[in-house]
Amino acid sequence: MSNRTDRDTSGGPGEGKHSVSVPATGVAVRESCDVRLLLVEDDAAIAEPLREGLEREGFEVDLAPTGAAALASGPVDLVLLDLGLPDLEGRVVCQELRRRGETPIIVVTARGDEIDRVVLLELGADDYIVKPFGFRELVARIRAVLRRSSGASAVATSITVGPLRVDTRSRQVRFAAEPVALTPREYDLLICLASDAGAVKSREQLMREVWDEHWWGSTKTLDVHVASLRKKLRPDVIETVRSVGYRYVDEALLDAVDAG
Ligand code: CA
Repeated sequence: MSNRTDRDTSGGPGEGKHSVSVPATGVAVRESCDVRLLLVEDDAAIAEPLREGLEREGFEVDLAPTGAAALASGPVDLVLLDLGLPDLEGRVVCQELRRRGETPIIVVTARGDEIDRVVLLELGADDYIVKPFGFRELVARIRAVLRRSSGASAVATSITVGPLRVDTRSRQVRFAAEPVALTPREYDLLICLASDAGAVKSREQLMREVWDEHWWGSTKTLDVHVASLRKKLRPDVIETVRSVGYRYVDEALLDAVDAG
């Protein structure tokens, strides 16, 4: 029943090992206006259709065919970086881009490259995708990375609700002045709830914002993470709103709402 993974198949006999399939027509333009991507890819047979596809999705796309061109490019909202470049080591380009700023980077690797989460962290990349990849998977990853980065930096540098204090720059969480260690997902969920304390967030909304934009299926993992947050903070700070979802609450905040 689930159509969550409708990745595009690509490649036929004899097609290049780095082929990428992009839907030719009928892709609706989505709400990606004003988001500028830098596509670093030396293979024009990949870069051009990818650029067209991404533009149909509403992104503005700059192309850089070399590492040097990537490093010389202007500011963008996200970099899509092929690690196999003709002039510079892709990993070096990645580290240099990261050294210069916080722009999110998605690394593109060839199948068989030794790359894992640890290497990614060392490079400073936010995510990676392996060729050949489905276009929809790529777009989903771009959106997810953009959402995470804007949630972390653009909204606010700190969130305070009652005894809860979150420094979103350092991702440090304190509750009643005590440091609280959270997993990345727990942190994202907490930010999602506490940044709009008192507001009810539906289960579907939380799954989309914290887990996957194209989420479809069980929300059990949400309940597990809520339970964990309640345990680490205080049981009553996240209220279950029956058959809807959750909200972050604080007694003082509720008193103020009641009084008003
Ligand atoms: Ca390449």
